Amino acid sequence: MRNIAKIAARSVGLRRTHVAAARMFFERQGLATFPPSRPRNVGRILCYHSIDEPHTGVNDVRAKRFREQIELALDTGHRFVPAQHIASQGGSRDELAITFDDGCKSVLTRAAKILKEYRVPWTLFVVTNWSSHRESWMRDRFIDWAGIESLMKDGVEIGSHTRTHPDFGQIDPERMADELEGSRRDFEKKLGFAPSSFAIPLGQSMNWTAPAAAAARKAGYKFIYAQSERKRPEGTIARTFVTRFDNRRIFLALLSGAYDNWEEWV
Ligand SMILES: [Zn+2]
Repeated sequence: MRNIAKIAARSVGLRRTHVAAARMFFERQGLATFPPSRPRNVGRILCYHSIDEPHTGVNDVRAKRFREQIELALDTGHRFVPAQHIASQGGSRDELAITFDDGCKSVLTRAAKILKEYRVPWTLFVVTNWSSHRESWMRDRFIDWAGIESLMKDGVEIGSHTRTHPDFGQIDPERMADELEGSRRDFEKKLGFAPSSFAIPLGQSMNWTAPAAAAARKAGYKFIYAQSERKRPEGTIARTFVTRFDNRRIFLALLSGAYDNWEEWV
């Protein structure tokens, strides 16, 4: 009986995921039809997750499409700059930055090569327990510390994405401190430095609170990145989430701000 309940719960979960993904697909199609008429005058930081890893769902972008997006950005007069440049100075409307969250393996094996080819500076936000392969399933999914070090030596900026990727809207202050300060200690131990950049797990307004923001400052983070544009927690840096649905038409709409008022799942 217990097993049947478990299977039923899992299939409901699965169905909800499909419903949410379908909703995202239609939202993105619809909003692409009406891009904003007033262009913004600051740079844009793009947020990616994985390349050719379909198991990450809506977060995954195909390699062919990723390359096409870089070319579309360049063809439409954009240039790529480090995320910190936009984070600290705002940047200009033709400036774009690329970031990757989670430390998925494909970022090392696929994205890094493409980004190097186009000489794009970029940032990787690492979940320290995942990259330490604390559990055996993590070994196949996430870049290890040697891989992260090789990216760092190649000029990639490395930032923190916590220790275990919790939802800060749901955890107590003690756990917040461990995720924020503890991950900085992990970086110090593994790579000899503590990052000043941090990306909020899940990154929507409901996933970040005033106590979390205070704890992040106390831990020593200077740049705190959200995963949405206008609807984001106060004091965070905007990023535009690129999804698996973002074909040429949607990506061009995204660059002109069609999703700047959009927030995932809300
Ligand atoms: Zn994440």
